[in-house]
Amino acid sequence: MNPVLLLLIYLTVNLLFCACAGNVSTGAVWDKNRPAHHLPDGHFENTDNSCEPIRDTMELDSMVPRNRTKMYALPIVRGNEYLWNDTAATSATWIGHSTYYILWKNYGILTDPIFSQYASPIQFVGPRRGTPPGRSLDSLPRVDLVIISHDHYDHLDRTSIAKIFNRWNGVTFAVPLKVAAILESWGIPSRNIVELDWWESVSVGPLKLTFVPAHHTSRRGILKSSAKTTLWGGWVMERAAVSGPSQKMWFGGDLAMGDGSYYKAIAEKFAPLDVSFLPIGSYKPSRYTRVHASPRQSAQLHLLTQSRKSLAMHWGTFGMVYDRLEDGPKDLATARKELNISESDFYVPKHGEIVPLLQ
Ligand SMILES: [Zn+2]
Ligand SMILES: [Zn+2]
Repeated sequence: MNPVLLLLIYLTVNLLFCACAGNVSTGAVWDKNRPAHHLPDGHFENTDNSCEPIRDTMELDSMVPRNRTKMYALPIVRGNEYLWNDTAATSATWIGHSTYYILWKNYGILTDPIFSQYASPIQFVGPRRGTPPGRSLDSLPRVDLVIISHDHYDHLDRTSIAKIFNRWNGVTFAVPLKVAAILESWGIPSRNIVELDWWESVSVGPLKLTFVPAHHTSRRGILKSSAKTTLWGGWVMERAAVSGPSQKMWFGGDLAMGDGSYYKAIAEKFAPLDVSFLPIGSYKPSRYTRVHASPRQSAQLHLLTQSRKSLAMHWGTFGMVYDRLEDGPKDLATARKELNISESDFYVPKHGEIVPLLQ
């Protein structure tokens, strides 16, 4: 069939079915006990604003992959390894994309681990790594906990999950609602998984974990109906201090600003935060800020949550949309200047860099 005609049919179908897909559910049974982000048909939805824009241009982009981010290898750095041998120290190491290795006083945490070459179900198509993992999985001293923000392929990678479990089979995987079934289908025992809804908490090792909202989405299948069948969000990790208030870290996951109310609620409950992990990539052209925060918005979140230190993520590793590779750090530098945030307070580590925390 003529590709132009195909495109027109595709757009028409999208306009018919996607316009304001947000919170509209026909024939829904109203249940006062059902949280607003749980739709009656089993899907999930952002509830912070009532109507999403028509997603035509973003869908079109995925059909015309030219002019995507041009990837090139960034430097991988070494140093500060002594922090991994000091059981009283806390550090975060950027592996790449949204993968951080946090060693919090001898308790090892991986965030959205992806060590694979492709962020894709098939290891020869899809977004390909521009820079190898900053540290290999085998080099990490210990992994006790893995936190997963959502099921997108650049955040939930089957090969990495399997390797982590094979190496540390006492590890706990903390996942959003309906993601446990995916891990179980990969052979991860249910005893190794905790699954939470927004605002639910659980104790794991020395930490109290709370799964918190983020304005985003989820999808692993080809069909549009597979979108939003599992929940998405971020994690707040709290650890009791020897004296004074507990120490808190917020892994934001993949997030857009939305109307800001989710993050205001996080700030009201948890601020001030000791450390926040915030995204600075995949936000150009501006229509992508429907699902991703710009560096400036992440700088605003840093201020809103009174974060003592924020570390950048979700950039420089996989070419997801159309920003240039260097845009994230550059735009963050501009935002820091305008918002009066120091470079070390919202820091952009290099791949492999071990950053001391909670000092
Ligand atoms: Zn995502
Ligand atoms: Zn992502």
